[in-house]
Amino acid sequence: MEYEAVIGLEVHLHLKTKTKAFCGCSTEFGREPNSQVCPVCLGFPGALPVFNKTALESAIKVALAMNCKVQAYTKFDRKNYFYPDLPKNYQISQYDLPLSKDGFLEIESDSKVKWIRIRRVHMEEDAGKFIHQGQVTLIDYNRAGIPLLEIVSEPDISSPQEAYIYLTTLKSTIEYLDVSDCDMEKGSLRCDANISLRPKGADNLGVKTELKNMNSFKAVKDALAYEIRRQTESLESGKKMSQETRLWDAKEAKTIAMRTKEDAQDYRYFPDPDLTPFLIQAEEIERIKKSLPELPKAKVLRFVKEYGIAEYDAKILVLSKKDAEYAELCMRAYPQKEKKTLVNWLIGPMLAEANAKGCAVAELGVSVADLLELVRLVETDVISNLSAKAVLSEMVQTHKTPNDIIKEKNLIQISDSAALSSIIDEVIRNNPKSVADFKTGKVNALMFLVGQVMKASGGKANPKTAQEMLKGRINNA
Ligand code: ADP
Ligand code: MG
Ligand code: ZN
Repeated sequence: MEYEAVIGLEVHLHLKTKTKAFCGCSTEFGREPNSQVCPVCLGFPGALPVFNKTALESAIKVALAMNCKVQAYTKFDRKNYFYPDLPKNYQISQYDLPLSKDGFLEIESDSKVKWIRIRRVHMEEDAGKFIHQGQVTLIDYNRAGIPLLEIVSEPDISSPQEAYIYLTTLKSTIEYLDVSDCDMEKGSLRCDANISLRPKGADNLGVKTELKNMNSFKAVKDALAYEIRRQTESLESGKKMSQETRLWDAKEAKTIAMRTKEDAQDYRYFPDPDLTPFLIQAEEIERIKKSLPELPKAKVLRFVKEYGIAEYDAKILVLSKKDAEYAELCMRAYPQKEKKTLVNWLIGPMLAEANAKGCAVAELGVSVADLLELVRLVETDVISNLSAKAVLSEMVQTHKTPNDIIKEKNLIQISDSAALSSIIDEVIRNNPKSVADFKTGKVNALMFLVGQVMKASGGKANPKTAQEMLKGRINNA
C-alpha cells in the first residue's frame, strides 16, 4: 500500500525580554548556573508572579504575523507535572483560552504556495535545564521562567522537506519581528515534530509519534524522513501503532522510543489562581498591528517593484532581515538602473562567503561602498570576474579595500593583446587536440582553451579578449 505522511509541528520560542515572564530575574544566556533565580521562579511558598508586559506585546506580534486571531479574553493555567526541571511542579501555560488561534503561515515549496494552518499561539514559561555529567545530573534554573511562546500547526505538512521550509519561513518571519534570537543551538527555538502515516488519499489521521531532541532544522528533516521509513515498515508488517514520544539520536541517525504519550488529563490543568485572567483591548491589538515591520513577503513585492529585480532573486535577498537591509542599501547606491549584476554578486559570491563563514552577508565586514567598487572594477574590465572573486575572499579576510588588494596582488586584467600574445601561442601549441576539436565546430573546446589561458595568466587575462584572439589565430592558422 502507498502511504502519505501527515506532519504537525510545535515550535517553542524564547521571547527576547530583559526579565523573566513572571519575575524580575535576568534572562541573559550563558551565565553562572542558578545565578538568575528568585523565590518566584524557584516556586517558594508565598511568592507571587507578576506578568511581563513586554512578553505579552512580543507574543501578540508573533500571533499577528502568523495571521492568528488574538483573543480578547485570555488566562494562564497550571500544567502540573512532577519532574525536577520544574521547581514549582507545574508550568505556567495556557490551556483552553490561549492568547490566539486560527492563523496560517504561507510557505512556498516547489514554486507552489501552500497555507499551513496555525492552530494556536500561546504563552508559557520555560523549565530549567539539565546538565548531565557522567553519573550525576545537575540542574540549572536560570532558564526556568523565561517567557516562551508555543506555535502549534495543524497537521497540514506533508513531507520532511515541507517541514523544513515551514521552519525556515517561520524563523525568518520571527527574525523580522525582532522578538527572539531563534537560535536552535542556544535552545531559544525548539521544535517537536508530530508525524503519522495514512493510506494515500485517506481522510482519517493515523496514530502519531512525537519526535523530540532535534537541534537543527536539518535534524528535524532527517528525523522525519527516518520516521517515515520506520512507520512504513511497522505498518507493512501489520503491527499496531501506539502513540509515543521518540527521541532523535543524531549520532545514530535514528529515533528511539522514550515514553508513551501522556494525555492532557494527566496534567490536571487548572486556572492559575495567582494570575487573574485578562482582557486585551481591540485598540491595543490595532496599535501593535500598526507597529509591525515590513515582513518578508511584502519586502519581496516591494523589491521587485522598486528595483526591478526578479522575484526569485528577491526571495533569496529577504531571507534574512539584516541581509535584506544590506541588499537594499547596495541597490540604492548602485548607479545602474538594471540591478542584475549587483544582485548576482549578492546572492552568488557574497552569500557563498557568508555561508562558509557561518554568518550573514551583512556581517562579512564588506562595506556597501567596497562591494560596489568591486562590482564596478569588474564591469569596467579592470579585473576579471575570476580575480574579483579572489579579491572578495581577501576583502572578507583582511577588510582591505578592493583597490589595495588588486594593487598588492597585481591583478589588473590583461586586455592588451600584445601582452596576451605569447600566452595564447603557448596554449595553442600545448593543446593540439582541443584546437583540432574547435576546428571541427566543437564550441566547448574553445571554452577549454580560454580556461587554459586564464590559468596560465593567473586569472588575469580578459576572457573576452582571450576568446577573440584564440578564435582569430586558430581560424587563420
Ligand atoms: P497532543 O494532544 O499529543 O499534544 P495535539 O492534538 O495537541 O496532540 O497536536 C499536537 C501537534 O500534533 C499539532 O501540531 C498537530 O497538528 C499534530 N498532530 C495531531 N495529530 C496528528 C497526527 N495524527 N499526525 C500528525 N500530526 C498530528
Ligand atoms: Mg500538545
Ligand atoms: Zn526569578
